[in-house]
Amino acid sequence: SQQIQFADDMQEFTKFPTKTGRRSLSRSISQSSTDSYSSAASYTDSSDDEVSPREKQQTNSKGSSNFCVKNIKQAEFGRREIEIAEQDMSALISLRKRAQGEKPLAGAKIVGCTHITAQTAVSGCLSGGPGLGHQLFHGEEISLSLQNGRRHGAPVLAGVAVFAWKGESEDDFWWCIDRCVNVDGWQANMILDDGGDLTHWVYKKYPSVFKKIRGIVEESVTGVHRLYQLSKAGKLCVPAMNVNDSVTKQKFDNLYCCRESILDGLKRTTDVMFGGKQVVVCGYGEVGKGCCAALKALGAIVYVTEIDPICALQACMDGFRVVKLSEVIRQVDVVITCTGNKNVVTREHLDRMKNSCIVCNMGHSNTEIDVTSLRMPELTWERVRSQVDHVIWPDGKRVVLLAEGRLLNLSCSTVPTFVLSITATTQALALIELYNAPEGRYKQDVYLLPKKMDEYVASLHLPSFDAHLTELTDDQAKYLGLNKNGPFKPNYY
Ligand code: NAD
Repeated sequence: SQQIQFADDMQEFTKFPTKTGRRSLSRSISQSSTDSYSSAASYTDSSDDEVSPREKQQTNSKGSSNFCVKNIKQAEFGRREIEIAEQDMSALISLRKRAQGEKPLAGAKIVGCTHITAQTAVSGCLSGGPGLGHQLFHGEEISLSLQNGRRHGAPVLAGVAVFAWKGESEDDFWWCIDRCVNVDGWQANMILDDGGDLTHWVYKKYPSVFKKIRGIVEESVTGVHRLYQLSKAGKLCVPAMNVNDSVTKQKFDNLYCCRESILDGLKRTTDVMFGGKQVVVCGYGEVGKGCCAALKALGAIVYVTEIDPICALQACMDGFRVVKLSEVIRQVDVVITCTGNKNVVTREHLDRMKNSCIVCNMGHSNTEIDVTSLRMPELTWERVRSQVDHVIWPDGKRVVLLAEGRLLNLSCSTVPTFVLSITATTQALALIELYNAPEGRYKQDVYLLPKKMDEYVASLHLPSFDAHLTELTDDQAKYLGLNKNGPFKPNYY
């Protein structure tokens, strides 16, 4: 069970069931192009900010110019951040060690489009580095260009070359993607996407590239949704892996990541103290559960709104009052949306909030709070800090709107490295599987990761906690009807 074995698990790869991409992390650029992971560290070089990176001539320490970042001179800072991130990404490192002999990605040429952070650099270097034998990035050494690669939305990685910087315009964004797809003498044979934009670009501009592509690994709900649409229309021409809906992604990205980052985002922006504060959390799914747990632990009085009786009952069992938003809107200090829905907080709600009420979104892109309704002549907007606006009513009442209704944690805090390690490990395994699959194993369709692979991702992360699994005895395995090596749960679990 210590080896990477996928070949015998293939019958467990199931097509995605009917509820297409219901849950997931929506870090897709098309819908949240202004979201971005930020970092506690900042590397500002204002003299450079004036010039577009596209206009600059930059060369890295190896003499290569095959990249485009904001300022390559800041490379050393980026390298240090990567070293910090590595400390909490030991599972990826152990995956590399385990795969050392096999080099399961030898010959793979992967073009990717995802957020650039220290963590994604670690996953890029490790899952893509010599350990697995493939070329993930071409040209530039990723660590050198990393620190300026953060941008609003999803930057682009290709080979070792990074084409990305924070604050790209829409045009820059597509230019970066194009530079990674349309490369002289290098053609990708795998796609690693987050949001579906890279896949979309290849379809639109370079469809012939698909002749060589063995598969697409997609991380986001939006990207997965697009893939299912393509598949339904009979237009998907290569197999695709839906990483978004694997348990290790769902639980960690949605539940645990939000449990940690909700407080971080609120504190950094508002310095609010949570003890005794009244908070209403809209939606008690994975994200809502994470937010509520964190707030409760700090002594906040938490209310929940839900449309689904099961989630509402779960909230009750967890000790939260389930209410309608209109019942509590006058009294609460903080409103947090986590529904994946639209217009959950309307202008009517905003009108009724008390002075200094904080409003933010942890759910879907920028749709949950009706921010458009606040851009009216009778209301005054005052930017008080980065990502913090006071919206002022004619009678002087202020509502504190965070990140203009976009995802609070992606805009205003960092995301725990460990969570990204889990997602990156899942992606790496999906790449390995698709790349090595014999002809015919996967059709031109969208596949879910098998439970066993999810379990493998989890098991790689257990040593970080010195956690020791109990092994089933033969007798117990027989009793439960399980294989001793897993999978231990059905796919729907
Ligand atoms: P989920 O489906 O488990 O939970 C959403 C809940 O909201 C459901 O229980 C649903 O019944 C409820 N809901 C829907 N409309 C509602 C309404 N009008 N009022 C009250 N409740 C309502 O999904 P999830 O995994 O919790 O994800 C929620 C959203 O958060 C998604 O859009 C997802 O993409 C996003 N997300 C954000 C992050 C982040 O880092 N901020 C991470 C993961 C997911």
